[in-house]
Amino acid sequence: AEYLDRIRLTEPQLKSFIHLSDSVLKDALELDRKVENGEDVGPLAGVLVGVKDNLCTVDMPSTGGSRILDGYRPAFDATAVRKLREAGAIIAGKTNMDEFGMGSTTEGSGFHVTKNPWDTSRVPGGSSGGSAAAVSARQCVASLGSDTGGSVRQPASFCGVVGLKPTYGRVSRFGLMAYASSLDVVGVFGSSVIDTAIVLSAIAGHDRLDATSSSHEVPDYSSEMIALDQLNSKPLKGLKIGVIKETLGDGIEAGVVSSIKAASSHLEQLGSIVGEVSLSSFDLGLPAYYILASSEASSNLARYDSVRYGQQADADDLSLLYGDSRAKGLGHEVKMRILMGTYALSAGYYDAYYKRAQQVRTLVQKSFKDALDQYDILISPAAPSAAYKIGEKTNDPLAMYAGDIMTVNVNLAGLPSLVVPCGFVEGGASGLPVGLQMISSSFSEGKLLRVGHIFE
Ligand code: GLN
Repeated sequence: AEYLDRIRLTEPQLKSFIHLSDSVLKDALELDRKVENGEDVGPLAGVLVGVKDNLCTVDMPSTGGSRILDGYRPAFDATAVRKLREAGAIIAGKTNMDEFGMGSTTEGSGFHVTKNPWDTSRVPGGSSGGSAAAVSARQCVASLGSDTGGSVRQPASFCGVVGLKPTYGRVSRFGLMAYASSLDVVGVFGSSVIDTAIVLSAIAGHDRLDATSSSHEVPDYSSEMIALDQLNSKPLKGLKIGVIKETLGDGIEAGVVSSIKAASSHLEQLGSIVGEVSLSSFDLGLPAYYILASSEASSNLARYDSVRYGQQADADDLSLLYGDSRAKGLGHEVKMRILMGTYALSAGYYDAYYKRAQQVRTLVQKSFKDALDQYDILISPAAPSAAYKIGEKTNDPLAMYAGDIMTVNVNLAGLPSLVVPCGFVEGGASGLPVGLQMISSSFSEGKLLRVGHIFE
């Protein structure tokens, strides 16, 4: 009830949601009935969770932030959503996002702009900005997002909450509207690292409906974490931490750099060995990401032809029907990405763009492997700055893309990464949060969560 009151109070201003569930109370009563009957209600019993609108929900519209899917109601739940419900969670509603996940501020939603709860003149980040703002404003305990190039980690940083991008394949993508299938993962936002761990345990695992989901065993991430000896003054003894050199150089807000440095000394005081590591292909990751993500998107978004689902324009000729529906239903950024992707994949340019981007991807993977052979965890900021003003970058897409420099490489390599709040910079009434990004090798989410827990 406390959370519902928070929603009533804050939602008119923040607008974290595209759709609020009208069955929260009914779901809660149903859960009470189960408890009375002595049925097992699961580890998330009664926990209110927000779900990004690109995850299909059978009982609520699912638009992916796009007008082309206005009113679309899927016939099934995404696997991650189904598992949340099975664990007893109650879905609060569908959170706002940049259309189909393409953007870094949530200003690219086809519906409305979400405000940052720390300072409502600023963006919450994106594309999962609604999910981050909802947890930050305590409208729900945790939420699901998706991360193709940083869409969980950057908004977590901007809104001062915990954000986890799991290893590629850790969580089923079934029912997640595809943006760039080789990069997309379902991620988690939590008010704390423990909440994040419990939600991850609930949604992770193999799914026969997603051939890329991994059958790697799913540990109980939260109990592993509690086992950590908090009383020991050097709980991180022997842990090797590498600060990524390229992420603390020019163009990074000074307050962000000092927060990360403070976090790294904290880790050192707790017994870890902190060194500096260079990722040689770091700067190439950004252009390679935008070519690969746009290329995959140009193919994935071909399904929005208005015939199978979504809004349909009035036209009596099939190609006009496709053209008009897409012209009206898709926003500017999405059209631009489809054009870029189609161009990069076209016969004459394939070798110059797509193929080279794939080669860069291999280099990025190799440089991470080399670094993680030397260090257990790599650290960096989650974004080059704290949350900026609404409208500040809307007319400069390249400046907005550049803001993804800290996160996209991790998706190219498929690695897990956790963002935890680690400091503040000046701004707004009470300062603006800064997030620390921690990266480790595939399927070592447990390690990240244990170390992240130290910051709480
Ligand atoms: N901002 C990046 C993009 O627009 C990342 C988005 C995401 O992770 N979904 O592609």
